[in-house]
Amino acid sequence: MNRIRFMLGMVFMLVGVLLFPGAEDATVYVTNSGQKYHNDGCSSLARSKIAVTLGDAVRSGYEPCSVCKPPVFVAGTGGATPVSAQPEGLYRVNTAHLTKTTEAALSRMVKAEVVGHVDGDTVRVRIPNPPKDLGTVETIRMIGVDTPETVHPKRPVEYFGIEASNFTKERLLNRQVYLAFDWDLRDRYGRLLAYIYTEDGQCFNASLVREGYGHAYISYAFQFIEEFKNLEADAKNKKRGLWSNIE
Ligand SMILES: [Zn+2]
Repeated sequence: MNRIRFMLGMVFMLVGVLLFPGAEDATVYVTNSGQKYHNDGCSSLARSKIAVTLGDAVRSGYEPCSVCKPPVFVAGTGGATPVSAQPEGLYRVNTAHLTKTTEAALSRMVKAEVVGHVDGDTVRVRIPNPPKDLGTVETIRMIGVDTPETVHPKRPVEYFGIEASNFTKERLLNRQVYLAFDWDLRDRYGRLLAYIYTEDGQCFNASLVREGYGHAYISYAFQFIEEFKNLEADAKNKKRGLWSNIE
């Protein structure tokens, strides 16, 4: 009798595992600050909601929400492989001794998707299968560039701030990008300091300076400081963007 019960139990378990586990690429949602992942529509997602795959959520240490009961990832049901292979370790342009943004190798960078837009020089990204030291969702402050203020609570919107913010949104939002790093991995707010490269191999940080959407931000040393200074001088010379009303 016990044996039959056991067999039945096994059959139900197998059926359960086959029918109900979340596929690794099932979409679940996390928040900017929480430790749980959720189904769409959960009340915990009222403030922020970032789509991730179930596999990414679990590998990043998120737990299923006990309220909305999202799918549970069952290892060994064919889903244990990485979503997309990320290179080992972080690609740092200073230790790679690069001198120009064009020398960087996309293949060594961390792949990410821009999922949120904050300002001209700051975006939010999702990193599938993040390497050590990075989270699944990160806020990125771009290195070497400072765009005019648009979201500071105590300061007015600065000249060309809206244009810079829109430029970044149009070029990066919902796009696949590649991240390279430099001396410091994070700023004092915990934001990731990175160079954002687009699929055409262009360094977006440099594009902002070149097109006059931002100043070269040279208060802190960075590997491409000479290039960025030159790009700024050229933008000023040609009165591009924020330099257009300067005599
Ligand atoms: Zn929930």
